[in-house]
Amino acid sequence: MKILHDVDWGKAEEEALDLFVSLIRLRTVNAPDVEIREVDAASLLAERFRAAGLEPTVLESAPGRGNVVVRVFGDGTGGDPILLSGHLDVVPADRATWKQDPFAAEVHDGWLWGRGTIDMLNMVAMSAVVTLLLARKGARLKRDLIFAGVADEEAGCEQGSLWLARNHPDLVRSEYAISEIGGFTLHSGGKRFYPVQVAEKGICWLTLTARGTPGHGSLPNKDNPIPKLARAAARLAEKRLPVHVTPVVEGQVRTLAEHNKAPNSWVLRGLLNPLLCDHLLDHVFPEPNLAATFDAALHNTANPTMLRAGQKVNQVPAEASLQVDGRLLPGQTADDFVREVRAVVGDDIEIHVDRSMEATQTSWDDPMQHRIREVLGRHDPDGIMVRTMIPGFTDAKAWSSIGAKCWGFSPVKLPEGVAFSAMFHGNDERIPVEGFRWGLRALADLVDGLVAG
Ligand SMILES: [Zn+2]
Repeated sequence: MKILHDVDWGKAEEEALDLFVSLIRLRTVNAPDVEIREVDAASLLAERFRAAGLEPTVLESAPGRGNVVVRVFGDGTGGDPILLSGHLDVVPADRATWKQDPFAAEVHDGWLWGRGTIDMLNMVAMSAVVTLLLARKGARLKRDLIFAGVADEEAGCEQGSLWLARNHPDLVRSEYAISEIGGFTLHSGGKRFYPVQVAEKGICWLTLTARGTPGHGSLPNKDNPIPKLARAAARLAEKRLPVHVTPVVEGQVRTLAEHNKAPNSWVLRGLLNPLLCDHLLDHVFPEPNLAATFDAALHNTANPTMLRAGQKVNQVPAEASLQVDGRLLPGQTADDFVREVRAVVGDDIEIHVDRSMEATQTSWDDPMQHRIREVLGRHDPDGIMVRTMIPGFTDAKAWSSIGAKCWGFSPVKLPEGVAFSAMFHGNDERIPVEGFRWGLRALADLVDGLVAG
């Protein structure tokens, strides 16, 4: 490391752990039935930044919905700013279904337990401490470093990153945004992979409507819209939309295949063949969750999620409607998606696009790829970096809307036997303390390289 070469890492790790624990205990749960107070976390972070001589801004998009942004100024010779971002909210956790208290933030057997330990108060704490370390050094940075702790990611980002991008873009505009989801250890076939997110699917939420002839429920009715709509819903559930092999997924699958032995490597490569893909997912993939992951990576998906029809039991209604959660691959538009859905449900169903947002993706062929590869090479020489796309969306949607290249890299080293995906929004979310310390050093190494030039 250049600027941070003589940091006392033991001390820095303790500082990060202390902040991390405090953040978990603030219980910044984002749920419809509670008072949501990310502002508590934003204020705590702001206090720490102020103590280091920085000038953070706390912005509330609505009462309690706090965001905090702070900047360490650089001379700009190394490029536009680097943004480290993390969401301050967490999903709910039910004490009754956990082995430990999800908001006590206690360490048991080397693991720190709590909601947000993986998604993603770890990254918030690490990013804040990296920012503090650089600020305290007072060294000349080659570019600005921005930290943003944001509200509301878990409910769609409207009160957080999207609000900031719309209302205060100059505070958060950057060349690169580094955030979730990636940088964790994924054990497979005796190897350690490190996914790095460079793409997120888009959304295309639809209302499908079937119309018919209303009438009395006592008479058979061949033009009842409910069975028409039900047939459409059943077809959507049974039939996949066409296969699309996008560059990010092709790269991901090829890397995985390279590091797997036959026959797994053949199966993986087979996924990239549109004639084999669906068959392999249905009949060869050993594990349904894994199959679903690749299914989502290779298709636009259309999941029926809400139904509405009829008001009285003795009356055939004039219409029935179905809401569909559609997810788009990079390069696909709402029109493309409607065409694919139309081919499945037929012509007698009306399709209305309620909301759509195209996928975000960052080019893999970018200096950042090499930076992250070098950092992983130093911190886990046997680790294998692999690009990924996630089926959902994160704050990257907001940052990319104002021009950032978004990289999902929130490093944490996990031992074998504990799946990142199971803890993400799951029960018993926890992080190995050693893996968190490792993550802090890896993130600091990356950011140091980026701002030191
Ligand atoms: Zn998250």
